[in-house]
Amino acid sequence: MSSTRTASGRTNGRNGTWRNWGGNVSARPAREVTPASVEELADAVRGAARDGLRVKAVGTGHSFTSIAATDGLLIRPQLLTGIRDIDRDAMTVTVEAGTPLKRLNLALAREGLSLTNMGDITEQTVSGAISTGTHGTGRESASIAAQIRGLEMVTADGSVLTCSERERPEVFAAARIGLGALGVVTAITFAVEPIFLLTAREEPMPFERVLGDFDELWTENEHFEFYWFPHTGNTNTKRNNRSAGPERPVGRVQGWFEDEFLSNGAFQAANWIGRAAPGAIPAIARFSSRALSARTYTDVPHKVFTSPRRVRFVEMEYAVPREAVVETLRELKAMVDRSRLRISFPVEVRTAPADDITLSTASGRDSAYIAVHMFRGTPYQAYFTAAERIFTAHEGRPHWGKVHTRDAEYFSRVYPRFVEFTALRDRLDPDRLFLNDYLRRVLGP
Ligand SMILES: Cc1cc2nc3c(=O)[nH]c(=O)nc-3n(C[C@H](O)[C@H](O)[C@H](O)COP(=O)(O)OP(=O)(O)OC[C@H]3O[C@@H](n4cnc5c(N)ncnc54)[C@H](O)[C@@H]3O)c2cc1C
Repeated sequence: MSSTRTASGRTNGRNGTWRNWGGNVSARPAREVTPASVEELADAVRGAARDGLRVKAVGTGHSFTSIAATDGLLIRPQLLTGIRDIDRDAMTVTVEAGTPLKRLNLALAREGLSLTNMGDITEQTVSGAISTGTHGTGRESASIAAQIRGLEMVTADGSVLTCSERERPEVFAAARIGLGALGVVTAITFAVEPIFLLTAREEPMPFERVLGDFDELWTENEHFEFYWFPHTGNTNTKRNNRSAGPERPVGRVQGWFEDEFLSNGAFQAANWIGRAAPGAIPAIARFSSRALSARTYTDVPHKVFTSPRRVRFVEMEYAVPREAVVETLRELKAMVDRSRLRISFPVEVRTAPADDITLSTASGRDSAYIAVHMFRGTPYQAYFTAAERIFTAHEGRPHWGKVHTRDAEYFSRVYPRFVEFTALRDRLDPDRLFLNDYLRRVLGP
């Protein structure tokens, strides 16, 4: 099959197949549009409804679940991009829904502004990122969606609806993490702040010490995260805290060596070897976990929070109550140690404070995120099934965009406000124009 790379989804083959970044989801939409305005988008939504097609807007296909898949109308984001407005009194920015996060970050930096917190890459569109609850790590600052001040979307009847804390607060509560189920987002207003500096301290640390000191590491740092390397007792920790400066970025050569060569190039090679010879993985993991040494640097937020991820993988991530994270990790490590699994990708651990978004993984609950990954092309079911059993025993809530097997019945138990979301969906999309198989499973028909 001849194919070309696109910004939206990984591949756009001649036969019209859409694929996600992880390569584990594909779909064949009946029709595709790339609207250049809200009016064009609304027309496309009305046209699809008339023709009996379901509708799905897609971002860059960075979700590992089939949340963005459709056999109906696929709405691509490329022409709905850019900044609409910056309000320096309110300290907000309004962006078109298809804007990639990397463009937003650069445009904001040029204006001396920044988001407060973000995830670890910036390839996604703003609308795709918020729709699944994309988050980074933070003691006080929460997900990207929690930084939203207003939303504009086209609903199933083709009309444009706006919402904020004051305007239709019941829609605002849910639509910030809307799973693509409530409408097509066309613009987002984010809170911004004057750009600031963060000092990052990256440091290898024994697994047992990180778990023993977890509360302290979390309390003492604005943004704490770590990676544990399965088959070892080693982690790499990262602590980001605001700094008065001066700016001390990672040097060009050092950055290339550590962030490109070691974290991507050599890591890719290690994964190839591990895939061909799984028995070598524990030795590779011991080596990889020691390859990166401690470093400290000070830079603007998007350069500290994010880094390139070129090695392709498949991921599952669950939010557990923060107070359960140490126990959950001990169980995960014991499971891996007992098993015959061979895992070449580190486990990532982050945190978020409770927020007020209906289906946010941190809704009403201080949370810790535990993410398990498998190199693309390696069977992941056995590992993810065993990990998921541990996460769900702690009332874990899976990331909406990462592999999981939970359904509406489970979500109605772990989300106290689940019915609030489905009632709003009944009101905004009674005929289920935005339905796909994934939404049928997680929200019900
Ligand atoms: C390498 C990598 C790193 C990642 N890092 C992180 C991380 O640090 N933290 C984290 O939480 N997640 C992370 N993720 C997951 C990723 O952020 C989410 O899956 C995100 O939703 C992907 O955004 P996207 O633009 O690719 O959207 P897609 O995956 O294309 O779509 C996601 C959802 O958004 C909906 N959507 C898209 N546009 C619109 C719109 N205009 N209106 C309504 N709905 C819309 C789609 O229908 C779909 O339901 C990562 C994923 C990868 C592959």
